[in-house]
Amino acid sequence: MILHGSKEKILICMPTYHSKMEWLVRSVDSLHFQTYNNFDCYVVKDGCSESCTFTNFEKTCIECADCKKTRIFFEKVCKADPRFKFFTLPVHHSGAGWGPRNFAIMNTHHNYIAYLDDDNWYEKDHIESLYKTITKTKSDMCYTGTRLYDHNKKVIGERIHNDIPKAGYIDTSEIMHTRYLIEKHGGWRYVKKCNDWDIVSRWVPDVKWSHTNKVTLNFFLRDGCGIHRK
Ligand SMILES: [Zn+2]
Repeated sequence: MILHGSKEKILICMPTYHSKMEWLVRSVDSLHFQTYNNFDCYVVKDGCSESCTFTNFEKTCIECADCKKTRIFFEKVCKADPRFKFFTLPVHHSGAGWGPRNFAIMNTHHNYIAYLDDDNWYEKDHIESLYKTITKTKSDMCYTGTRLYDHNKKVIGERIHNDIPKAGYIDTSEIMHTRYLIEKHGGWRYVKKCNDWDIVSRWVPDVKWSHTNKVTLNFFLRDGCGIHRK
């Protein structure tokens, strides 16, 4: 067990938007059980369906009942564990969490940045494996293997792509990277599809990459595999 205060503090960016409570409990629990426990988890709610957006300024930003439940849940999590911080964006950014991820990155200084989308969950050695690999190999990004689950919580496959990152073979929650990549190439963008590949495609082919060569992420494969809800 690695203790608080030892080694580097990792930033975990977790966007959330109208997610099921059971997903939130599952993702937060998986962070509580990490063998590498020196991290800050920035949970950033991407507004609400009642928030204004960049194309609709008429909405009054009243929070819906689901968002109130999310807020109460995370306020309890943060109170019990100061590694968690909860924020709400006043404008709904949509586009699968690009706004919340940028918010977390731009308001912190951590050198190592990782992600957990709230419908995914980590194996207990996820952060430790990524951190050990990225530091040992002195790479600027590291990613990990994924176990895929369907709606019935049945495992439908595993993916270990120990090769240069490629479109369709890398997912946001698999990645840890240095802040240097953000400073050099910029942050997350609004794109219609696959904003994880949008950012990674700006890093390859020159990025020094590495892979844990094992499965440490659990991924809930939704119909259409989009992150958009409601
Ligand atoms: Zn809401």
